[in-house]
Amino acid sequence: MPKTRREFLASTTSALAAASAAAALGPLRLAAALRAEPYALVLGVTQDGGMPQVGCYAERCQRARARAEPRFAASLALIDADRDRYYLVDATPDITRQLDLIDEPGFRDRAGQRRPFDGIFLTHAHIGHYAGLAVLGREGLGILATPTYCTTQMADYLSTNGPWSLMVSEGRLDLRPVTPGQWITVDSGLQAQALLVPHRPEFSDTVGWLFRGPTQTILYLPDIDSWERWDLKIEDVVSTVDTALIDASFYSGEEVPGRNIEDIPHPLVPHSMDLLQARVDAGDRVVFTHLNNTNPAIFEDSVEAAEIRRRGFEIATEGQRFPL
Ligand SMILES: [Zn+2]
Ligand SMILES: [Zn+2]
Repeated sequence: MPKTRREFLASTTSALAAASAAAALGPLRLAAALRAEPYALVLGVTQDGGMPQVGCYAERCQRARARAEPRFAASLALIDADRDRYYLVDATPDITRQLDLIDEPGFRDRAGQRRPFDGIFLTHAHIGHYAGLAVLGREGLGILATPTYCTTQMADYLSTNGPWSLMVSEGRLDLRPVTPGQWITVDSGLQAQALLVPHRPEFSDTVGWLFRGPTQTILYLPDIDSWERWDLKIEDVVSTVDTALIDASFYSGEEVPGRNIEDIPHPLVPHSMDLLQARVDAGDRVVFTHLNNTNPAIFEDSVEAAEIRRRGFEIATEGQRFPL
């Protein structure tokens, strides 16, 4: 369902346009023209630790506890309901509740048959991005063979460390290591490409993902240490996609007391906006995600969130959809 008046108007306009285009095509092609378009669904927007964070009783986390709609760790689903295709991008500790956001009747049937996803894409081995796989194993959903796309390092890590290794040996995670920088055809309506990024490599390397659907391309890059340490320019990558969802862990270096700005291994939001302002002014869509619980922009009524909107950027919300 569209959430705002603007989204409602946009969806109504596009439905009317589709209907009139379908009428021009004739009845035989009516059904095809009116089919639901694929989309990426935001399943979560916080940094790995979630919101509220465990043991945090500061006002911000108490406020999050009182919120009607909970916040979840950063994740996406890629959905083409007409073709019965469902993909998960990162598996977070909040996965149980996050799957409830997938409001498609076909999806629940599939979960009942232990085949909820046609594939899982993983960015890296930090808890917010893969720990949710645990409840897809035998103690939980018990998924059947599911193609799992990740780097070779990540695949090696999953294969050689419990409990993930059991999911691999039982055939639940069907590992499909990819070569970063190369497109893969996932199915007839989806291509994907991993982009290696600099990020603390304790257990695995880290990638962002490009997803190309029938109509749009999305960048999903929830974690990076620094734009400057990347061998690609974020401005150039953003210019090649329709929507970019990027790391917004911290807004300011003051957020984490006792830590110097140089010790915070993420680009600060104002710096990312400075780098990408020209792209946004040119019409590219840049959406912030993976917000730490200290980042005030996680609250829609903060001055920081207002500043992000004023500059033409967006902040992702659970349940938000992007055309794919
Ligand atoms: Zn993370
Ligand atoms: Zn990380």
